[in-house]
Amino acid sequence: MQAHEKYLLSSIDDLTSIFNRRKFREIVEGSWENAIENNQELSMVFIDIDYFKEFNDNYGHLKGDELLKKLARLFKTKAEQYKGFAGRFGGDEFVILLPDANIIKAKKAGEDILKTVEELRIPHDYSAVSKYQTVSIGVTSTIPTKDAMPEILFSHADIALYQAKRYGRNRVCLW
Ligand code: GH3
Ligand code: MG
Repeated sequence: MQAHEKYLLSSIDDLTSIFNRRKFREIVEGSWENAIENNQELSMVFIDIDYFKEFNDNYGHLKGDELLKKLARLFKTKAEQYKGFAGRFGGDEFVILLPDANIIKAKKAGEDILKTVEELRIPHDYSAVSKYQTVSIGVTSTIPTKDAMPEILFSHADIALYQAKRYGRNRVCLW
């Protein structure tokens, strides 16, 4: 196998075939530097599948895997539509980076994704919030500077996502 081929494979999540966490981090770091140079904003959209444990427990792990693949494809398509990048952060958590997007644009992307997932009408009889599979989303934006670290995007997006879960799931919250 060629070195380049190996590198590509080590960047891709086995199950979903989108960027894995390691590669996604690299993209965030590169985009952070770019944003500083060009004085641009950087936004992050953090997505977690609602009641996925119940989905797995009731429909089986294989159906769970299929759901992860299907949603990952959707997140990738949406990320590209908004000129960004999608990655699997781990388990049922996904993350989208939107270079040169402010909070208004990022919120719009988040709401679009939320709506598109529910419109797939994937039955979820064991969800407490909908008859269908839903997601919760946290969104944050920042203007990167030399004094700050890209971690701030992850931590703020994670807090916003936690709020979305706490306020009842199937919603977008902003940091
Ligand atoms: P919440 O609405 O709060 O997000 O609840 P949840 O049930 O989605 O949250 P939790 O984090 O407890 O469950 C995530 C589940 O994702 C648990 C784990 O079994 C499942 N999971 C993680 N990775 C995979 C995978 O690769 N395939 C499958 N089928 N399931 C996975
Ligand atoms: Mg979940």
